[in-house]
Amino acid sequence: MGWDFETDAEFAEQLAWMRGFIDDELIPLEPIFDELPAEEWRVVKGHLQGRVKEQGLWGAFLDPQLGGSGFGQLKLALMSEIIGRCMMSMTIFGVQAPDSGNMELLAHGATDAQKERWLWPNLRGEISSAFALTEPFLAGSDPTVIDTSAVLDGEEWVINGRKWFITNASVADIVLVFAETSPEGRPHHHASVFIVPAGTPGMEIVRDIGTMAHPDVEFGRPGNHAEIVFSDCRVPADHLIGRPGDGFVLAQQRLGGGRIHHAMRWLGMAQRSLDIMCERAVSRTSHGKLLAQHQMVQDYVALSHMEIQAARLLTFQTAWKVDKYGAAAVRADLGMVKAHVSQVVLGVLDRTIQVCGALGYSSDLPVEAWYRSTRFGPIGDGPDELHKSVLARTLLKGYQPTEGWPTEHIPSRRPAGEARWAQLRADAGLQ
Ligand SMILES: Cc1cc2nc3c(=O)[nH]c(=O)nc-3n(C[C@H](O)[C@H](O)[C@H](O)COP(=O)(O)OP(=O)(O)OC[C@H]3O[C@@H](n4cnc5c(N)ncnc54)[C@H](O)[C@@H]3O)c2cc1C
Repeated sequence: MGWDFETDAEFAEQLAWMRGFIDDELIPLEPIFDELPAEEWRVVKGHLQGRVKEQGLWGAFLDPQLGGSGFGQLKLALMSEIIGRCMMSMTIFGVQAPDSGNMELLAHGATDAQKERWLWPNLRGEISSAFALTEPFLAGSDPTVIDTSAVLDGEEWVINGRKWFITNASVADIVLVFAETSPEGRPHHHASVFIVPAGTPGMEIVRDIGTMAHPDVEFGRPGNHAEIVFSDCRVPADHLIGRPGDGFVLAQQRLGGGRIHHAMRWLGMAQRSLDIMCERAVSRTSHGKLLAQHQMVQDYVALSHMEIQAARLLTFQTAWKVDKYGAAAVRADLGMVKAHVSQVVLGVLDRTIQVCGALGYSSDLPVEAWYRSTRFGPIGDGPDELHKSVLARTLLKGYQPTEGWPTEHIPSRRPAGEARWAQLRADAGLQ
């Protein structure tokens, strides 16, 4: 019997350390985080990151065979759930998106020299990176069609085009740019990935875009999403990752495991939100009863718990499958996790806001900000519709069409049932 839902004792201790560290050191900073002096925060952040490194828990998204210190997707899923309790933990534990995905891409596609230059410094936290695929005038859900082009001119690639929603591009040291190099290779061998260092002439960060999470965006803050224009932007030939045309496959590499950690971080946030809902429900009275005694509130509590637990198990099982069979073999499952959990977390956040009433809607509680920053979930990393469509098509491949009545048509099954019954009667010795 191979199923085992227990975490081994040694790793459970590391998880307990993480939980204590995040709850005691990071969560208390949340109310003042935006006011911390940037230079002092840089020093304190380095100190906190050092403590994580001492515990051997830094940058655990990259498995040892790719040069990282990871422990596989299942253990990473357990860690990500705790990290999700507090968003600044991602940076402190070295699993910050989009860097983590970019490093997976580099780990799979870069040469040793390129890894020395960009991957290992990124993994050590010395430089940061952004990934530029989405464009304003073409559907981001369909990377088989892009406008941005890269043309080889002597020993340099010349990039032209416009990208937007590029997370961290206004602060990153390098931008991984997805550009078309061979239109004849469409749909899956047409594009390539290039490293464009910050400050390269021809790469202009036009603006950081205001969003639901930050409507009054301030340019150049980590976590912003930039619009970028490339005008005859030149990079040396050795800034191409992989071979020309490898871009699509490389872009897929950065998403596989990422869906698991994203999902588990959302579930960590969902659980913290449910804790807020429950505390409020047992603390406040309306119409002579605690909120917790109103059956509809009980429904919100129970439904949220059921959804979180079901989503955790689905995600853990998918992580286990990735460890056992590889991400490529469970692509549809990874999409299912993303599409399912992105809805679960929003449902729990929404119910928490509801149970907390005006307080829930206010910025006196963190839930409204979590809701706004999580609403991108069903859109980003491929919209949920796309993942559901891949899942449905994968499932449907297992079915054959029938002619006439369906296989389960009861009147058609009668003769077989009668024949079986006659045989069983005879076998049992009945006359
Ligand atoms: C917060 C945030 C951060 C982001 N960070 C980055 C980044 O760092 N780098 C980057 O390159 N991009 C980034 N993006 C962009 C993101 O990847 C795209 O928004 C996403 O791929 C969807 O593309 P789109 O916005 O162009 O929507 P569209 O492709 O125009 O799709 C719009 C809607 O159409 C529907 N739809 C589309 N295709 C299908 C389909 N096949 N079946 C059914 N319905 C469909 C869905 O409802 C979808 O939401 C980010 C986006 C957000 C919101």
